[in-house]
Amino acid sequence: MTPGALKRLGIAFKACPATTCGCGCGGSKAPTPEPRPADLRQWLPSGDQGRVAQIAVREGVRRWDIKSEPSWRFFRPTKGKVGQYLADRAEIWIQTGLSAFDTASTALHELRHHRQHERHEPFDPIAEGEAEAYGQSLARVLQREGLL
Ligand SMILES: [Zn+2]
Repeated sequence: MTPGALKRLGIAFKACPATTCGCGCGGSKAPTPEPRPADLRQWLPSGDQGRVAQIAVREGVRRWDIKSEPSWRFFRPTKGKVGQYLADRAEIWIQTGLSAFDTASTALHELRHHRQHERHEPFDPIAEGEAEAYGQSLARVLQREGLL
């Protein structure tokens, strides 16, 4: 779905992963992560969001054969995004105040970017569409299974 189509449906277009370090130094020192984007102000999850995000990430890691589990946090509402993946920190960020379904689909969208990063897949519009489709799809499955 294009950003324009998402906007017409009232869905905020998600910001996409920060670029990753490709320094190629070959050394053992881990690259220093970029500073977090200034608009990601960490905040408490509302209602049941923490439990829902935990289930969504756990099930996504298991069902999508993801090797490392990213951490996840919540941020205060900000313009233009409901979720973000920071590849260099392996962090998933989810907007506070979302419904259970939107919390799950956002967490899973960003988790899919984590999977793409793990597999060194390019980040492009196809990857964005893939993340959105897989995120929505697994969130619906988890809802049907009574896990959300
Ligand atoms: Zn995305």
